Amino acid sequence: MEQNKIEEIVKKVLGELGANAATSSSSSHTGAIPDKAHVAMLTGIEKMEIKEFPMPKVGDDDILVKVEGCGICGTDAHEYRKDPFSLIPVALGHEGTGEIVKMGKNVKQDSAGKPLKLGDKVVTCMIFKDNPAITMFDLNKQNVGGADVYGLLPDDDVHLNGWFSDYILIRGGSTVFNVSDLDLYSRVLIEPCAVLVHAVERAKTTGILRFNSRVVVQGCGPIGLICIAVLRTLGIENIVAVDGEEKRLAFAKEMGAGATVNFKEHKGIEALAGAVKNAFGGYEADFAFQCTGSPAAHSNIYKFIRNGGGLCELGFFINGGDATINPHFDLCAKEITLVGSWVYTLRDYATTFDFIKRAKAIGLPLNKLVTHAFPLEEIDEAFKTNIRMEGLKIAVINK
Ligand SMILES: [Zn+2]
Repeated sequence: MEQNKIEEIVKKVLGELGANAATSSSSSHTGAIPDKAHVAMLTGIEKMEIKEFPMPKVGDDDILVKVEGCGICGTDAHEYRKDPFSLIPVALGHEGTGEIVKMGKNVKQDSAGKPLKLGDKVVTCMIFKDNPAITMFDLNKQNVGGADVYGLLPDDDVHLNGWFSDYILIRGGSTVFNVSDLDLYSRVLIEPCAVLVHAVERAKTTGILRFNSRVVVQGCGPIGLICIAVLRTLGIENIVAVDGEEKRLAFAKEMGAGATVNFKEHKGIEALAGAVKNAFGGYEADFAFQCTGSPAAHSNIYKFIRNGGGLCELGFFINGGDATINPHFDLCAKEITLVGSWVYTLRDYATTFDFIKRAKAIGLPLNKLVTHAFPLEEIDEAFKTNIRMEGLKIAVINK
């Protein structure tokens, strides 16, 4: 056998084993990478432009990823409509995933210690800056809220900073996870699923959530629906979903809710609380998850919960205004244990990969949450579809 042929085979085998066969400064799929990348830039309020930039140099600690897809988050929609984070011009998209096409010589493994090689499918979580308090391995540490993530960064001279693009440059010091064993839609759903893995972890700290708890989930957007799925993977089967839309309630049943209540069919909180109690066969809920951004929904949810029950409020990802409760009746007299939840920890992020596999194993239709897929060129329409609240998870999927 010719020497160069042997070398080629050895290289291929090593590559398949996940070893870093290349000894040069970086390895790549030669010839496969174009010289220009395309990024959907939000350049003004409700103004998206596809910009072309030169493909950046990949440093020794960097990873160049060919983007396959990215979900639109509520946060993206807020930024698109009002620029509350003053980021314009910005490359949005933080629920993204893609394939490693080039990496620096120092890159060997992901943030969980799994080997990385060309062709692996990855997601990112946050970028370590100078906050050592945020680590993978301390369960009691704060969530990653406020940390930097790709898709919510100020523009710089690399420009490839968001997942609404065809390529993104993951720089050294960022978290990255090898999720090659998950299909594309599952990978697009990792970030929102992590929000629910975290919320359920928060709920568990109350000690109230148990195997056969009666749990009410209020709000059946993507967050509420994923909440139901996470509960089902924990063996919680007695779930009542509350929403105002029949289509969403039907999906809640597919996701594992045992019964549903359409709040539009009940006038006043007494009647609504009665309907939730009926749905549990005459019992109030042991635990409630509030998954809407509506202050009125926060005020209402206490009425669904039994004395000594618990509540996890996770609907207010951004400031949605003040809510009124009666501290005597709603909290003190009932001795409700209340936890708030926001974002996730790095540990929750890694746990989420297993959650997705478990949800599929018990037949929950997680991927059906992605109701719309648009090519990058139609990103404006993708955002408008999100804002019109058609469907559930709207994604940009590259060919
Ligand atoms: Zn998000």
